[in-house]
Amino acid sequence: MKKIAILGSTGSIGTQTLDVCRRSGIEVYSAAAASNTRLLAEQAREFGMKKVCIFNSDKYNEMKTLLADTDTSVVSGMEGLCELASDKITDLVVNSVVGMLGLLPTLTAIESGHDVALANKETLVTGGQLVMPAAKKHGVKIYPIDSEHSAIFQCLQGNKASQLRSIILTASGGPFFGKNKDELKNVTAEQALSHPNWSMGSKITIDSATMMNKGLELIEAKWLFGVDTEQINIIIHRQSVIHSAVEYNDGAVIAQLGIPDMRIPISYALMYPDRPDSGLKRLSLTDYGTLTFEKPDYDTFDCLRACVNAAKEGGDRPCIANGINEIAVRMFLDGKIPFLRIGELVEKGVCTLPVFDVSSYDGVCAADSAAREFAQKEVIG
Ligand code: MG
Repeated sequence: MKKIAILGSTGSIGTQTLDVCRRSGIEVYSAAAASNTRLLAEQAREFGMKKVCIFNSDKYNEMKTLLADTDTSVVSGMEGLCELASDKITDLVVNSVVGMLGLLPTLTAIESGHDVALANKETLVTGGQLVMPAAKKHGVKIYPIDSEHSAIFQCLQGNKASQLRSIILTASGGPFFGKNKDELKNVTAEQALSHPNWSMGSKITIDSATMMNKGLELIEAKWLFGVDTEQINIIIHRQSVIHSAVEYNDGAVIAQLGIPDMRIPISYALMYPDRPDSGLKRLSLTDYGTLTFEKPDYDTFDCLRACVNAAKEGGDRPCIANGINEIAVRMFLDGKIPFLRIGELVEKGVCTLPVFDVSSYDGVCAADSAAREFAQKEVIG
């Protein structure tokens, strides 16, 4: 049986990954959390984990105390995350941390020869140019957990990637689809946090409301499937039943459908190519009756437009867009900036910041820092 490490085990993807492990009997060797010591300790006990990492080093002693009567060892910080990612004994590393800080653990897992089940899209957005060649060099697989990318990956099975013409990347449109900028001026964090179809963490839910999430996914898809920006068509599909589709040279389009439940793509990433019974609710197409498709609104959703431009330009621009967005989302959640300011900041930074060389990890970090600093300065002055 597979042994896995879960980086980000107390978040939305992490807890759903543990659900899949509970059912399938996959052994969770180790897990990491940002700062939720209580839940991480509970998980460590339930799964008999050998090692845990609490990312927030201030919580290290508290974590040690909570697990004092067990034989689970405790590590912390980025060093701890990378230790979990590189442990010889694990077969697969699930990366579901939030943000660009997932990049180094991903690279570490790859260099240690471990396959990666990737939910942390910022890894590829900021460092795809490092991750994809490293995966090739070390002969490791990257299994997408993001539902759209899992769908595309599933649609590619048994076909020739070289005969792929285009990708249809579906988007739910988030809670604000159909609204114009005037109507979005005063939306609150609470309104932005209520997603119509998916239950997710706060960062990705805001990204979904601004459509930044779809922009990041476009860049993620470019790296994972080796296609150009122009080959990816984003369409709004409000029901989130078709998780994405691919078009082949002969005109055939293959889509992957299912209920919107992340445990399906998680299972596929963990057990590829097996598809054991998930115990989940079945898709009933007649319950939906109608599936709808519309064009995205690039005028209202600045983040989406900025990401498409960043994807076309390539180089450091995706990393710049991501860094600004990470700070802007935090500031919006903290009530420091209005909703529309997120997109304004991302677009301005992508257009005006100087170009960085992102051909090394340090280069990516320099671009990321400049982007974060830009966002802070724009707002605070
Ligand atoms: Mg997604």
